Amino acid sequence: MPTKNGASPAPLEYKIIYSKRKTIELRFDGANLLLIKVPQRTRKSAIEAILHQKADWIERTRKRLAQRLPVPQMVQGEQILLLGSWHSLNIRKVVTPDEIFNTPGVITLSQKLASQGAAGLIPLYRQVTRQWTEHYAQIYSEKHQLPYNGIRVSSAKTRWGSCGANNTLNFSWRLAMTPLLSIEYVVAHELAHIKHRNHSKAFWGFVAQIMPNYEQGRAWLKQNGHALPVF
Ligand SMILES: [Zn+2]
Repeated sequence: MPTKNGASPAPLEYKIIYSKRKTIELRFDGANLLLIKVPQRTRKSAIEAILHQKADWIERTRKRLAQRLPVPQMVQGEQILLLGSWHSLNIRKVVTPDEIFNTPGVITLSQKLASQGAAGLIPLYRQVTRQWTEHYAQIYSEKHQLPYNGIRVSSAKTRWGSCGANNTLNFSWRLAMTPLLSIEYVVAHELAHIKHRNHSKAFWGFVAQIMPNYEQGRAWLKQNGHALPVF
């Protein structure tokens, strides 16, 4: 996935917060501010020791957070992620449903939706997620005799999809930001759970049977999933 802006990283700032706690806790507030919560009267040397000990974790976490794309501001011409590629946002007073994707590489949204901020993208992301997950689920469920009990589009932040006990398939609308290959993989993965309720070798073998190139779709999510904007 190409990066949206190539801003150079700002220096990492630290903020020490003394409180009535018993242990030291490190927590990032964004990529450039590390909050260090410590018990009252903790010595500077003890804090320095912890920072030294946790240096790898700090660096790793910071890098990951720095890669996260900013939440869309919904301004004219802004680059918006859809199906793994950037689209220009075109804001117009009135937009009919068939005008949304009229121009390749452009998403046309109404002023009313854009004025809601990034939340204005969610109906579109939900619609795209439903459309493509239904598309792949129908094809694969028929081909491999995997009867599912409908599709639910959720707003889950930490999982792309899940398969309920009653074989209802759940998919996060955040999938609309990822390439079709990744959506296809998540559908194949959740459908495979109808047959294998675990992540055993047999499960992965079955996923490969459903979608022989599933690794590609999975790899994109592993490499880029953490960088997608969260809203
Ligand atoms: Zn699974």
